[in-house]
Amino acid sequence: MTGKLRICAYSNCEKSVNSMYDEEHCLFHAPKEKKGIGVDVFNKLIFAQIKRRDYNFRGYVFPGEIIFLKDEEVTFKGNAKFRDAHFNGNVKFAGIQFSGYADFRDTRFLGYADFRSARFSRLAVFNKARFFRIVAFNKACFLGDADFLFAQFSSRSLFHNTDFFEGANFGSAQFYNNAEFIESHFSKKTLFNKTKFLEDAQFKNLHFDDEAEFHQTHFSGDAVFSAIYFTKDASFDSAQFSGETTFENLTISSSIFFRRLNITTSSEAS
Ligand SMILES: [Zn+2]
Repeated sequence: MTGKLRICAYSNCEKSVNSMYDEEHCLFHAPKEKKGIGVDVFNKLIFAQIKRRDYNFRGYVFPGEIIFLKDEEVTFKGNAKFRDAHFNGNVKFAGIQFSGYADFRDTRFLGYADFRSARFSRLAVFNKARFFRIVAFNKACFLGDADFLFAQFSSRSLFHNTDFFEGANFGSAQFYNNAEFIESHFSKKTLFNKTKFLEDAQFKNLHFDDEAEFHQTHFSGDAVFSAIYFTKDASFDSAQFSGETTFENLTISSSIFFRRLNITTSSEAS
């Protein structure tokens, strides 16, 4: 009997279903409990795909920890498409070079997300990405625009020694835990408009070479702006500060605006 090959239900996927274990999805789009293979075997298939220079991982469900090694064969020489992918374990892109754009829109990171020393040569988009555990972009380098619009950070997020060479946009992102922007450099316009910091936000030893906007930004925990160089205008219009707020050692070459500021203390709020 030759049954008709069923095609994966994930949009635009043309692979056949992982029929022994999942009637709807191929091996790559199947939920982790319907893979039928171990994490190591799955990861080997991923590395083989990279070797074939196929960087389309859109909607893939990564069942466990995966470490993208910094060797010649596991660099992304074209556009890396991880949109809508689910990483069920820790993921390590440390030191990895993304030569094309890096698309992590709607990607879910259920384990740690390690992007330390990663190098993004072109646009990097993390719009609506969700980070459930610690995420680290320490020493990462964004040579194109970095977009984190509506991204959600459930655990600590670390941006230490991070270089943003083009625009950085954290608009409407939500930080549910401590956010640390330390010793980093923002070369172009940087936006934190409508961003919500629900715990402490630390901005320390930063250079903003272009405009920095914190319009309607909510700082629910303590906010520290220390040793910041604002080369162009910085504005905190309609920003809301609810915790202990510190502005110290600022170097302001242009102007800094605090229009319609809303300051409450936590004791008032409770
Ligand atoms: Zn599929």
